[in-house]
Amino acid sequence: MEKLAREFIKDKRDKKTHKPEEVTHFIQSYLKDEIPDYQMSAWLMASLLNGLNKSEAAALTKAMLDSGYQFDFSNLKELKVDKHSTGGVGDKATMILAPIVAACGVRVPMIAGRGLGHTGGTLDKLDSIKGFNTRISKAEFQSNVENIGYSIMGQTEEICPADKRIYSLRDVTATVESIPLICASIMSKKLAEGINGLVLDVKVGSGAFMKTSEDAKELAVSLKEIGEQRSCKVHAIITDMNQVLGRHVGNANEIYECMEILKNTDESKELYSDCRELSLVLATHMISIGKNIDLNEARKLAETALEDGSAWKKFLQLVEAQGGSLNIEKPIYEKQVLAKKTGYMQSFDTEKIGLAGIIMGAGRKVVSDNIDYLSGIYVEKKIGDQVKENEPVFSLFAENKEKYAEAMEMLESCFEIGEHPIQAPELIKELVL
Ligand code: URA
Repeated sequence: MEKLAREFIKDKRDKKTHKPEEVTHFIQSYLKDEIPDYQMSAWLMASLLNGLNKSEAAALTKAMLDSGYQFDFSNLKELKVDKHSTGGVGDKATMILAPIVAACGVRVPMIAGRGLGHTGGTLDKLDSIKGFNTRISKAEFQSNVENIGYSIMGQTEEICPADKRIYSLRDVTATVESIPLICASIMSKKLAEGINGLVLDVKVGSGAFMKTSEDAKELAVSLKEIGEQRSCKVHAIITDMNQVLGRHVGNANEIYECMEILKNTDESKELYSDCRELSLVLATHMISIGKNIDLNEARKLAETALEDGSAWKKFLQLVEAQGGSLNIEKPIYEKQVLAKKTGYMQSFDTEKIGLAGIIMGAGRKVVSDNIDYLSGIYVEKKIGDQVKENEPVFSLFAENKEKYAEAMEMLESCFEIGEHPIQAPELIKELVL
């Protein structure tokens, strides 16, 4: 006889370990509406408080993965590799690395997300390209991966529906911040892409969800374990998120930065060196997994794809295939936040920069909000830069002019200038291979 839902919840309340088939049954019953939201919520809270071990997290991942459609690219001889970032401010690496990796002959099927909390989302950024369709059908996605080498779409009702429902519940029951629940949620969606490998960009710092290296490492190791239990090779890279990645924060302006990097302009190598480098590092790991070659060889391929224009061509091909026309122009900024003293930029509260972007309409406060795609922030000074009194630290553009005052007030209190020179933080903190 199957265990009653209340007995299953009681087990977790009393710190007992579930059998994998009990987890499967609970998730399947929830999807069939045999278990109401209040019982799922109670179990989620018990799991957040008392933890799920590796076998329970693996069973949860499998149950969520099996709840929906899974892509099958086994007809393609090349390996399929994706990247997942745990979220940051100005993190636009996906749009740069996916065409690089595709240009090197590795297939990249990407199911991407919208902004979460103070962080931006790939789908919102792509939506700033006129006509670009992130809601393509499964068949179009499949065909882009086969013919262009990559494609980017959003999670649909058919992909991991159990995660979709449970994630919405977690959002409103204070049960997001559990490492096993986060791992199962992320990995079920990634595994549904039919991938053989995954590179994880686990961000740590003032603009990341993980504020300490210990938490970032724990998340990286747990994600890797879950992937590898399901024959997906995982490289996790812990990277710095104590300042904006690159310079632009928003949507259309972030696409502009990506285009400059993909066009390999001299200006992009200087202004956006951290974003360019991170994209190359992540692409290198994806190519190394996808072609089964060492990291040095993979790095050379990634650099060549950027330098010879083949990555830029892949980007243009995908924009056209998904219905977009590249109307993105150099952003114009109207307002500035000035330094009140001379010195060196020491640190940022990067989460506040993300929130200032949201205030100006670059992200959503509630799910139903519309985005102002042209609104955004430009970071004039990065950590370690010399700053003179009255020099701009940030430049801003808001489509709705009434939003400037609140955003500027937030930005004025989000950085520290000190007397002593300081090194920029290391971009790559640790590799978990
Ligand atoms: N992103 C997800 O997809 N799921 C989580 O649980 C957290 C972040």
